[in-house]
Amino acid sequence: MTIFQKIIDREIPADIVFEDDRVLAFRDIQPQAPTHILIIPKKPLVSVAQMDESDHEMVGYLMHRAGLIAKEQGLEDFRLVTNSGAGAGQSVFHLHVHILGGRPFHWPPG
Ligand code: 5GP
Repeated sequence: MTIFQKIIDREIPADIVFEDDRVLAFRDIQPQAPTHILIIPKKPLVSVAQMDESDHEMVGYLMHRAGLIAKEQGLEDFRLVTNSGAGAGQSVFHLHVHILGGRPFHWPPG
């Protein structure tokens, strides 16, 4: 079981900013920007690489909700990131999108 499943199950605490029946959003424990929120599906998908067609609507909803949360947090400009696989920087193997804002971001991300 991943740490994010434990957050969903309320086995460990998190600073939750949004929750409904499909997604949960909470502040990252090691923020990389003034605003750093993670939004995750309640369904335990590993990453976008494990999605199938039945996940299209839910992940579309998750992205829409990520944008709404960013705006609710007062962010005009923000970055959404999802890492897939350890080589890309994924460390928790439950799909999550980072919502980052409040400072300038550079490209390429490194
Ligand atoms: P990844 O590296 O997989 O893309 O991102 C995982 C993120 O989860 C990291 O930014 C890390 O700081 C965050 N994280 C890891 N464990 C916890 C935790 O127990 N609580 C919270 N809120 N964030 C966590």
